[in-house]
Amino acid sequence: MHYIDQIYINGAFVTPHGEEQYPLYNPATEEVIGYVRLADEHDALQAIAAAKAAFPGWAATDKAQRIAVLARMHAAVAAREETLFDAIVTEYGAPRSRARWMAQYPADVIRQAISALENFAFTEQAGSAEVIMTPVGVAGLITPWNSDAGFICNKLATAMAAGCTAAIKPSEMSGIQTQIISEALHEAQVPAGVFNIITGRGDVVGEVINRHPDIAKISFTGSTAVGKHIVASGAQSLKRVTLELGGKSPTLILDDADLGQAVPLALAAGFMNNGQACVAGTRILVPASRQDECEQAIRQAVAQIHSGYPEDPRTDIGPMVSHKQWQRVQSYIQLGIDEGARLLTGGTGRPGGMTRGWCVKPTVFVGDNQMRIAREEIFGPVLVVIPYHSDAEAIALANDTCYGLSAVVLGGDAARGAAIARQIDAGRVLVNTLAHEPQAPFGGFKQSGQGREMGKWGMQAYLEPKTLLVG
Ligand code: NAD
Repeated sequence: MHYIDQIYINGAFVTPHGEEQYPLYNPATEEVIGYVRLADEHDALQAIAAAKAAFPGWAATDKAQRIAVLARMHAAVAAREETLFDAIVTEYGAPRSRARWMAQYPADVIRQAISALENFAFTEQAGSAEVIMTPVGVAGLITPWNSDAGFICNKLATAMAAGCTAAIKPSEMSGIQTQIISEALHEAQVPAGVFNIITGRGDVVGEVINRHPDIAKISFTGSTAVGKHIVASGAQSLKRVTLELGGKSPTLILDDADLGQAVPLALAAGFMNNGQACVAGTRILVPASRQDECEQAIRQAVAQIHSGYPEDPRTDIGPMVSHKQWQRVQSYIQLGIDEGARLLTGGTGRPGGMTRGWCVKPTVFVGDNQMRIAREEIFGPVLVVIPYHSDAEAIALANDTCYGLSAVVLGGDAARGAAIARQIDAGRVLVNTLAHEPQAPFGGFKQSGQGREMGKWGMQAYLEPKTLLVG
């Protein structure tokens, strides 16, 4: 049993003023595996005050000093890979292969922030003026449960690279992973107050961050509904806001695609991270001329996908993170049936033989783009196949959504795929690959977000251009 009863403020682990004991679960067994004592408003104020006090000193550091601290953070986080791996499997339910990636990514992303910092120009000449990129102030970093350590490390390393200090509010459901990261960052001897971690509820700690005048910027990853609320709450003090929100991303299988290659990629895009991925390709657009062939290939490929316990090496899709999330996904599968979508494979209930654990049958419907299962983010392994009759219709369907985070185009001719990709309204479009490029910007069009993370674009989001003209 894990008892996490400390938060991190001003360079030290301290007992929170908040007293709520929040249970942590193993999603594979449904058992309580620990409790995290949550921070409250008082703790949030302390954390913001510490970050504010540390800001002038940290903002005055030069590149070399920041890189030295970030390099220590990288080493300390990398050294926790195995502990983090175990926590990700147990507390989040990621299958082993995914958990390995998730345990390595937090250190990788710090290294990427170092690289972005090394290449970043903080001053630039604009005519007769010097433009100085100046750290915006204290950043409030609010993160979700579907990649806890990765989001904390990415946002914090980028904020620090830019010269900002931070008050971090991770998800209350990821207490064990957060504790491991907090210990690593403490070991890295980051100057006191530069980062503060206050695990607490969104409507308690999050609300303090949303409204506090000393928070200059918020970087938030989570649901679109909370993202909109953060923009509204921050308007009073005109906070800078970066939002990474939800999606309903399309995967276009073109009529010249080799289905033996395209279908496994389309399913990997749809089911990644147990289906709990903002970038998941949850709408698979298939050519009507090859619909039967596509459906058969999808049915056969899904039959090979194992949804089950994370420790089982056969598992591709682990359990949903919580009972609430499991119920939400189940209700969407029922909704698909009720609104007349045709069930190609999967359905309600647990996968065969399982009596416990928040596992879901990998489910694929055939439907149309107006159905709620094709319009609303489900955040589970539930996909909709939608037929189209021309490339133009495929592009129109891909763009007929309030989201615009990611898209995948799969076809026999990469140049044709790229030409179609250019017409899709999304922050990232992948052609015949699911690769990630950490130097490129990441973020969404439309209601998938605001602003960008990663690379120089991620750094710019924590900086204000200051124009200096000397007569
Ligand atoms: P969520 O929005 O409920 O919670 C995200 C974080 O916000 C949590 O830390 C939560 O405690 C906090 N929060 C909740 N209410 C708040 C409030 N009023 N003020 C401030 N903070 C508040 O989302 P979730 O259920 O934790 O995560 C799933 C969602 O996140 C999905 O919609 C998914 O698409 C999205 N997501 C997006 C990305 C991306 O990069 N675009 C990545 C992962 C997840």
